[in-house]
Amino acid sequence: MPHFTSTRGDAASVSFEDALLRGLAPDGGLFVPETIPSLAPAGEEDDSFPERSARVLTPWLADEIASEALRAITADALDFPVPLVPLAEGRDSGLGSVHVLELFHGPTLSFKDVGARVMARCMAHFMKGRNDKLTILVATSGDTGSAVADGFAGQPGVEVVLLFPEGQVSPVQERQLVAQRPGVQALAVDGPFDDCQRLVKEAFQDEELSSALLLSSANSINVGRLLPQMLYYVWAAEQFDEEVLFCVPSGNLGNLTAGVLAARSGLPVRRFLAAHNTNDFFPRFLEGGPNEFAESERTLSNAMDVGAPSNFERLHGLLSEEELRATIWGASVSDEATLQAMRRVYDATGYVADPHTAVGLEAVRRYRRATGGEKTPAVVLSTAHPAKFPAVVEDALGFEPDAPDRLAALWGEDPYSEPLAPTLEALRGKLLP
Ligand SMILES: *Cc1c(COP(=O)(O)O)cnc(C)c1O
Repeated sequence: MPHFTSTRGDAASVSFEDALLRGLAPDGGLFVPETIPSLAPAGEEDDSFPERSARVLTPWLADEIASEALRAITADALDFPVPLVPLAEGRDSGLGSVHVLELFHGPTLSFKDVGARVMARCMAHFMKGRNDKLTILVATSGDTGSAVADGFAGQPGVEVVLLFPEGQVSPVQERQLVAQRPGVQALAVDGPFDDCQRLVKEAFQDEELSSALLLSSANSINVGRLLPQMLYYVWAAEQFDEEVLFCVPSGNLGNLTAGVLAARSGLPVRRFLAAHNTNDFFPRFLEGGPNEFAESERTLSNAMDVGAPSNFERLHGLLSEEELRATIWGASVSDEATLQAMRRVYDATGYVADPHTAVGLEAVRRYRRATGGEKTPAVVLSTAHPAKFPAVVEDALGFEPDAPDRLAALWGEDPYSEPLAPTLEALRGKLLP
């Protein structure tokens, strides 16, 4: 059974439970598996996503989570559809065989529900044996906050405190953040996102808080999100009789790292496409550019506005520079090209893509052109529901996308959040009894 060690090599190897509850390795690195188990073959009864997923996680976790408990975790966490939608082949679309893997049918309508829900249930599982309560502290400006809040809501032994910048998230995102949930406290910080992040960092380093509370985090560097994100790669790839191309709309590179982990465990993948917006550190690196992060800039696909991808260190720990360049092809897509891709795909196939998915669809088109029309079937991971970005869809297509009932219902609820001054003193006041 794999143990986890730090990308920086200065920390002892730990169990999954320790890596999960700690988040970051003690030497400041990211936890990576010491060994990668081979992909478990599908069993007779593995005909649903949660069943297949429990089987895939077994060689990783069986020493720490018994088989029955693991199956209960995936059944409860992955209780929504993950459809693989083939796009009709439009003659002028230049798209060939393209499939969209819709990862946005969970409660908060982004792929982050998958990782957050499995992670929350694993944490609750480990907290069961302890006479203690875990406090998850998250700074958020986008999809992570609502996925984590929803994923952890009502889990025994775990509480969530969300910090978001007041007035600086989109109306849909704000509604999703301030929905009332058991065991979740939403704090509207009077300051920008950077203040939220700084407060969380300070809280982790504060002696008074860390002696009174068991604090943990839930961002994309946590291995608790990484392992479950392998599951849909396996689920999708096994629906084909041949190797596929996975195209991953990317920001912090957590999703792509999970795909690489699945491939390292034996999943047949022809190649990965890293689809970025104009925050293009990684595509430039793949083309031989410098290993230097940049400031982030704002784009229409805002969940990917990351100048310094936190999972780059882990991805680079799994694959050498040469292997990275051989395995992954990168693309950087401007806002203008994103809107054009949304229009092109809608006109050719009637499919409404959100801006993040559109960056992926455009990357596939460019890859096919660059490789002279390589015929490998492409699977684009669709990371968000278009209804999360009504203004961008309206701009591109001239109409607002249909919103699922659970999103529309949020406007009928009483929102709940408390104001917070951007100081550690104020945060202590909220967290300590
Ligand atoms: C978080 C997010 C991404 C980027 O995922 P990473 O794992 O950070 O690369 C892409 N699209 C959407 C909609 C997201 O919320």
